Amino acid sequence: MEELVSLCKRRGFIFQGSEIYGGLQGFYDYGPLGVELKNNIKAAWWRTNVYERDDMEGLDASIIMHRQVLRHSGHEATFSDPMVDNKKNNKRYRLDHLVKDQKADVIAKVAEAMGQTAENFPAVVAALNANPAQASEALRAAGVRDPFSGEVGEWTEPKPFNMMFKTTIGPVADDESYGYLRPETAQGIFTNFKNVVDSTSRRLPFGIAQIGKAFRNEITPRNFIFRVRELEQMEIEFFCAPGTDEEWHEKWLEARLSWWEAQGVPRSKIEILDVPKEDLAHYSKRTYDLMYDYPTLGHEEIEGIANRSDYDLGSHTKNQSELGLVARVEENLDSIAKLTIPHPETNKPVVPFVIEPSAGVDRAMLAVLSEAFTKETLENGNERIVLKLKPHLAPIKVAVIPLARNKAELVDLARSIKNDLQKLGLGRILLEDSGNIGKAYRRHDEVGTPYCVTVDFDTVGKGEDASLTGTVTIRDRDTLAQERVKISDLSAYLQAKLR
Ligand code: ATP
Repeated sequence: MEELVSLCKRRGFIFQGSEIYGGLQGFYDYGPLGVELKNNIKAAWWRTNVYERDDMEGLDASIIMHRQVLRHSGHEATFSDPMVDNKKNNKRYRLDHLVKDQKADVIAKVAEAMGQTAENFPAVVAALNANPAQASEALRAAGVRDPFSGEVGEWTEPKPFNMMFKTTIGPVADDESYGYLRPETAQGIFTNFKNVVDSTSRRLPFGIAQIGKAFRNEITPRNFIFRVRELEQMEIEFFCAPGTDEEWHEKWLEARLSWWEAQGVPRSKIEILDVPKEDLAHYSKRTYDLMYDYPTLGHEEIEGIANRSDYDLGSHTKNQSELGLVARVEENLDSIAKLTIPHPETNKPVVPFVIEPSAGVDRAMLAVLSEAFTKETLENGNERIVLKLKPHLAPIKVAVIPLARNKAELVDLARSIKNDLQKLGLGRILLEDSGNIGKAYRRHDEVGTPYCVTVDFDTVGKGEDASLTGTVTIRDRDTLAQERVKISDLSAYLQAKLR
């Protein structure tokens, strides 16, 4: 992980946010290559989930939302994590993180005190969260240490900490004029359900997909871009008739695993966690968490696929009592919309069930980079670092390199090849005229550029072999094989390789 973090900074993928002022914890900036990789991941997700399906619409809703939205969604009351303070040094920790960071014997003692075993950590967390008083006693009895000071802490009883960022809207800051930065993109989909149905005439089953920023005031942001306070999500709310939800839940699990595989994140590295009942979010009937085996972190959630029942639309709709809702929802006297759709069989208005595959873009980046990061020993004994990214995700698709940067003839031809390739719409093509071919190859291995095209003296008829005039060398990132290809065949060659 350390090597990957350093590569990300050195090559311009990811920087600490507000770095020149000492940095801001939990915020990261995506650099020249990071933005390309991120855009490519999002484009791959959109292509699979929107363009390649016939049952999906897209959406881009606003980030700041009416406080009523997040009140009726349940977030004001329940979007919180239990935190504990160490009275000795006033440090604050998320309860489950604190326990997870302890030595194995301490974790085992906490688990035992909560009537669980350390092997089933999700159940330990669920028990801790559900019983604050008992949790406090368990931390004391197990001698839980403060990760900062290393000493046994003096722990307070866990208290809920709401993770939403609140902000003032308009020029006057009073009790009424606040809103929230959305903690998930999902709510924008629910509040637009009626707009999308009315404008597209969709019938069940169908989904709405959205990619966008979400904000969570995490108590302990950490592990690089794994847990941040400003994150990006790729979310689908898939609406289906009650009774068909369990089948759709399974189908989405399968679809999502196969998408990850296509991004270079194999199934064998993902564990499917059937989230224990006690640990389910307030809206969930059942949730599968996809737990990717991150380097040094171990298995952590990369995506949640939740069966949200009719909770969300049921919470945001008017006339709740007439709609036969299955989920337990709070009364809503504020909504002005009835969020129903004709049942596909009976045609009677129904509040659909929702399956929600929700993936984090930042966590996707980390997984994709981790899988791609490779160290190889070459035949000559040298070591090389190479990012074996899938070509569709690579930030730079092709680097066009003139062999000498002070030879105008080579540079001009390289530039014209670059411009022609750029027009193919494959993504970023880079003119790499730094002059040192060895360094250029090393750099492009490290940033995952699948192909380097070199323009040399043979290309312009000034080398030793006249038969090579009008040809360039193509170097393959993974096999290191070099091939001579005619400039006139280059577009077709690369199109076939990179599409
Ligand atoms: P965790 O248990 O790790 O805090 P969560 O269960 O709260 O995650 P969800 O609410 O299910 O996460 O959010 C859906 C997805 O959004 C997650 O699978 C993850 O990929 C991403 N995500 C959530 N919180 C963060 C965060 N703080 N930083 C980066 N990505 C996040």
